[in-house]
Amino acid sequence: MAREKVVKRGPQPDAGEQKPLPAADEPAIKSLRPRRLAEYIGQTQVVGNLAVALQAAKQRGEPLDHVLLHGPPGLGKTTLSHIIATEMETTMVATSGPMLEKPKDLMGILTNLEAGQVLFIDEIHRIPHTVEEFLYSAMEDFQVDFVLDRGAFAKTIKIPLKRFTLVGATTRAGLLTAPLRDRFGILLHLDFYTAEELTEVVARSADILDIPIEPDGAFEIARRSRGTPRIANRLLRRVRDYAQVHGRGVITRDIARLALEREGIDERGLDALDRRYLATIDELYAGGPVGIEALAATLNEETDTLEDIIEPYLLKEGYVIRTASGRKTPQARADQPRLFSVG
Ligand code: ADP
Repeated sequence: MAREKVVKRGPQPDAGEQKPLPAADEPAIKSLRPRRLAEYIGQTQVVGNLAVALQAAKQRGEPLDHVLLHGPPGLGKTTLSHIIATEMETTMVATSGPMLEKPKDLMGILTNLEAGQVLFIDEIHRIPHTVEEFLYSAMEDFQVDFVLDRGAFAKTIKIPLKRFTLVGATTRAGLLTAPLRDRFGILLHLDFYTAEELTEVVARSADILDIPIEPDGAFEIARRSRGTPRIANRLLRRVRDYAQVHGRGVITRDIARLALEREGIDERGLDALDRRYLATIDELYAGGPVGIEALAATLNEETDTLEDIIEPYLLKEGYVIRTASGRKTPQARADQPRLFSVG
């Protein structure tokens, strides 16, 4: 099987711009990425639409239309971009919005692309506006206008590009400008996975990593993984450690429960920050509504962290409601105990 080569291009971002990823887990998680579309679990509609587009492009002998992938972090956007490159029998060049600080950063990448190659831009909503404008003609006409000199001697030269496929990934499709969004031919939205789908992800990863696991153990990890394969894979590794040290090495339901409890993951799959977020609204703001800025300041977190990482799952599961005047928790019933408490 041909493995796609990935080249990271662009200046290194400041440390402050880097995503807070579980870096220690990355090497192992990378090897868990499904490489072909047929191995990609869940997201049936996305996979179905993509399969048709891939087959049609291949039959015509053309590169795939530009693809925009949107959805919360850890759901498989980068993985799908790798898969697109593999299925189109080409290679992928990866960069991200914050890495493209100046037009020349993007120009260097675009002019070096080979015919049919996939250019993956993660966090595409964070591309500076001056850089984004260069993308328009690159995506539409496969050329870029480069301005030489300035003032009276300014001269524009058109640089032709090879036909490539841009795959953009974003956690916030709403932050994309209309001209950029309109230039993507294929728009795919990734949603949270069901516990059953994540059970398959956990079982597959356990198989690859040679971890003995019982079906109940896989389900226990899956149902507490916030609908997110990246979290499921990370928890699987933590539970494996626990099973090795405190059990017989096999992940059973009981071992999974004990290990996840130690990791601070509760029955509902919520972690410490989720609970602190909900308890803050519930107790300090009497159930809300509270503005995101005030909430972020109280929690000492970035608003982006709350909006990109914490809230999507809590909103989807109905733990929090977003209204015009701010976030609030659903009305607690008088006969029910409070679910969350601060501290
Ligand atoms: P994103 O780019 O959306 O943040 P990634 O593509 O990096 O997410 O996915 C995170 C991890 O989750 C990957 O390393 C991969 O192992 C796993 N993963 C994602 N989607 C799937 C899937 N559909 N099936 C199996 N594993 C998946």
